[in-house]
Amino acid sequence: MASARFTCARGVGMATLGVRPGGAPGVGVPPEEPVPELPEVETLRHDLDREVAGRRVKAVEVRAARIVRRHRNRREFANRLVGRKLGPASRLGALLLLALDDGGDALVVDLGTTGRLLKQRSAAPVDRQTDAVLTFTVGGDLRALELGEAGELFVAAGAELDELAEARREAIDPLTDALTWQAVNARLQSRQEGLRPLLTDPSFVAGIGPVYADEILWASELRWDRRSERLSAQEVRRLHRAIQEVVQEAVRLRGSSVGEAPWLDLRGNKGEYEPQLNVYLREGQPCRRCRTPLVSERTGKAETTYYCPKCQS
Ligand SMILES: [Zn+2]
Repeated sequence: MASARFTCARGVGMATLGVRPGGAPGVGVPPEEPVPELPEVETLRHDLDREVAGRRVKAVEVRAARIVRRHRNRREFANRLVGRKLGPASRLGALLLLALDDGGDALVVDLGTTGRLLKQRSAAPVDRQTDAVLTFTVGGDLRALELGEAGELFVAAGAELDELAEARREAIDPLTDALTWQAVNARLQSRQEGLRPLLTDPSFVAGIGPVYADEILWASELRWDRRSERLSAQEVRRLHRAIQEVVQEAVRLRGSSVGEAPWLDLRGNKGEYEPQLNVYLREGQPCRRCRTPLVSERTGKAETTYYCPKCQS
């Protein structure tokens, strides 16, 4: 999928209205609306594994037909889930997979740019933005909200899951052993692009969007527009280490909830990584490394990068 996956049109109008978190007034640059990136998806995977795996599906209600577009119709999607037990949750890049009993099928959740999952008591009122509800025989229901145009749910058989994995073979998952210095280096050399567009390209590294791309670049002391093939060996090592450390720390703190429509976890709580953000949405504030005021710059139609003009070079 293209990098548009991480660019949400929804936020452009809203985001210009208010003062950004941290107090610096906007400078007329609409920020991208943060979307679920890898740490948020991994947080959901962890929660699903703990709170949903092992439950049997009693009923499925699809309120927006477009989210099950791979199926003939809503009923066909529901029929493949009702009566089945959900197994362990796993992740394929930014896709969430819930195994199904009897065979190698899985329920695949693509959150798109805005999607959320919520585990609730069945008696809780159903939010207007709810796209689908899976009710369990015991223990509440799982709701998918705001999947938008890009998000979707589908049941995939074993062969389809293999195809999905194959399509993502090139992307490095930063939470796996695939994130080696050598793999990062080889891709930087062959892609020959600016660092930020490359970092947010899901065919390069899985699940990095605007928030963590800027944080990784700050941690590596590299400017967003550096060309990937011109980094020194030492710079490649810094970038590699930063991808690993930023993503792991964000997973440990259960993701970031920033912006006008912050991401929420399976229970509706915010992530705790926001205070760790060193550049994202902090333009005008002093750099935590060198005290220089941070700046933001438009890098594309709806894309903004935040960085330190002094210590990132
Ligand atoms: Zn600095």
